[in-house]
Amino acid sequence: YQFVASMPKVELHAHLNGCIREETLFDLARQKNVELPAKLFSLDHHTNNDDHVNSFMYNVKPRSLTDCFDMFAVIPKCVNDLASLERITREALQDFANHHVAYLELRSTPKRINQSLSKRQYVETILRVMKEFQEVEEERYQQQSTSTSSTETTTRLPMKCRFLVSIDRSGSVHEAQENADLAIEFSQQPNSLVVGMDIGGNPTKNDFTDFKPALSRARKAGLKTTVHCGEVPVAAGPDDTDPRLAKARDEVLAIFEFRPDRLGHALLLPESLRNELTTLQVPVESCPTSNVMTLELAKHMGGDLIHGLRQHPQLQYWLDDNYPISIGTDDPGVFNTDATQELVLLAKAQEGVTTETLKRIVLDSVNHAFCNVELKDQMKQLMGEFFATME
Ligand code: IMP
Repeated sequence: YQFVASMPKVELHAHLNGCIREETLFDLARQKNVELPAKLFSLDHHTNNDDHVNSFMYNVKPRSLTDCFDMFAVIPKCVNDLASLERITREALQDFANHHVAYLELRSTPKRINQSLSKRQYVETILRVMKEFQEVEEERYQQQSTSTSSTETTTRLPMKCRFLVSIDRSGSVHEAQENADLAIEFSQQPNSLVVGMDIGGNPTKNDFTDFKPALSRARKAGLKTTVHCGEVPVAAGPDDTDPRLAKARDEVLAIFEFRPDRLGHALLLPESLRNELTTLQVPVESCPTSNVMTLELAKHMGGDLIHGLRQHPQLQYWLDDNYPISIGTDDPGVFNTDATQELVLLAKAQEGVTTETLKRIVLDSVNHAFCNVELKDQMKQLMGEFFATME
């Protein structure tokens, strides 16, 4: 664990609102009088020194896909002003940095979080917090480099951050176009941290093709693209007449045809589509804990994530093939995970994964990043040097 905790990491798939710390969610819910659904949180009573009974909520795992989207409906009710948006952004960045993430791509769906705050202000706020965080990280790194008291466990690279504007597929096409407008506008500012767009959200709602025009526009303007793919069961072949499975297959084929720069999850692909993906070589952002939870793979195994991950429909194939993948947390707050845990889980669950494999995956992930070549080269050099000191 210690080796994995200390190694520099790359996080390419993290949704801001899904990063919310559990205690922050409960704190904001209390402040804002938001009732968290009892199905997802249970009440535990603690007695403090004054003999007052305080109610604490805690996470009841596991989380199905439906549970997740019930949570995503309630989180924005707690994050409903600038102060709370700033807080969850800063805490998310700090949590990734604490796990030695050296390059982070954070994504979020722009929201009108209250009547007086526009989507533009939502994005501006996140970008401002990211820029401030990067400056503090750089200063810390300079001090660390000159200090003699740094130890191997505290030494880490400064975290670089970039931002992806998400489209929520359960929303309207108009909203998606608005988000594309914002992504394009911000990406054209000097030294912008906005490097790409994502399509995510509830995979049972609407269709990729509804949002394709917005994503195409972003791509034409120079942004990179990533699309969540294969999160619901997909027909094995063109002859399958089950309308839901057939629709899911058509959707995957349309996503492949669009050929995004990366794919999110690419989970439930039947063999024929996995083979097609092998030809395309589009890098996949794989999120082990999230996949085990949403596919309910650990449900019948007493919640054991390692056994659950061994049932993952694709990971072992990808590892055996050296397929381009990165390992992400997806929603560390919702799935109670972090960047170290995901790599440790992968090493424990999948055959043949050594620390060398983890280093290879992390370095290779830099190639899939949406930042410019200069930063990629810089990251690869710094990470390579850091790995050399760990040997
Ligand atoms: P936000 O965009 O910052 O609000 O982050 C939460 C949102 O990310 C959710 O409402 C979903 O739209 C999206 N999201 C998070 N996890 C997943 C997932 O596993 N599949 C699809 N969409 C997701």
